[in-house]
Amino acid sequence: MVGVAFLRRIDLHTHSLASDGSLSAEELVMLAHRIGVDFMALTDHDTVAGVPAAQAMGRKIGVKVIAGVELSTEYNQGELHVLGYNPDINNLALNECLEKLLNYRHQRNPLIIERLRQLGIPVTLAQVAREAGGKVIGRPHFARVLVKMGVAASVAEAFEKFLAVGRPAYVKKDKVSPEEGVKLIREAGGIPVIAHPGHLPVIGSAELTALISRLIPFGLLGIEAYYPEHSWTNVRRFVRLAAEFGLLVTGGSDFHGISKPQNRLGQVLPDGGPVPEGVRASLEEWINLV
Ligand code: AMP
Ligand code: ZN
Ligand code: FE
Ligand code: FE
Repeated sequence: MVGVAFLRRIDLHTHSLASDGSLSAEELVMLAHRIGVDFMALTDHDTVAGVPAAQAMGRKIGVKVIAGVELSTEYNQGELHVLGYNPDINNLALNECLEKLLNYRHQRNPLIIERLRQLGIPVTLAQVAREAGGKVIGRPHFARVLVKMGVAASVAEAFEKFLAVGRPAYVKKDKVSPEEGVKLIREAGGIPVIAHPGHLPVIGSAELTALISRLIPFGLLGIEAYYPEHSWTNVRRFVRLAAEFGLLVTGGSDFHGISKPQNRLGQVLPDGGPVPEGVRASLEEWINLV
């Protein structure tokens, strides 16, 4: 019995090179295997491009990889991230939406370059695209280039100085509505989950309750309560809220590799602990239900 519970880890929120992570989908799954994660989801921003490779590697080395995605949606001038678990990655409507989100990024990226150049930083889109590797170019890629250029000491500082909301190189990108995101995932046979509610710009209880009530009619099924950047108070609060609404509770590390070095694969709780074991069974049960 000794060590069995410790060896099985779950991580339902990870990013690869297909979006703004720094490991390829295969490398990510190999790392998961090495550290004892045997059940995970790949949830790249606005793309499912890494899923087939991640799942193929998972089958090869014995890691169960759930197809996933993290959609950026519009919420109160900020962003609401919607996770989708086990959608049909070939679903037409979902792919049309992903294409649209990619276009919004393509519209935004040159504007960020322009802002940075106005600030005297001679960065080019080609540099950022090279840093990105995949099709999805995000602010973390800009941040990594700024670090390489020596104008910021870390990715976090690049956000603080230039890229975060309200900073001089911040450019808002168009998004879909949370309702549309939730509905698309559900209609693609997936499980829509509110990602890291602790990151929402306004997270008063009344507000969050209203948001959940608003999204349930569109197919919302879960809340990501276990998340390393949530306080224990918030973790407990989100678990309680999920129970009140009969929603699934999920959790993940938001591992990005070097784009977010403080988030470690498999370390999901505020103290670095793993996702409680029961989450795997609940998610599998819900996957079979939808
Ligand atoms: P984008 O979708 O291109 O606007 O980039 C959003 C991503 O940037 C988020 O998913 C985070 O991973 C990262 N991010 C946002 N704000 C910050 C911040 N203040 N510090 C570090 N990373 C951030
Ligand atoms: Zn990210
Ligand atoms: Fe997110
Ligand atoms: Fe994420």
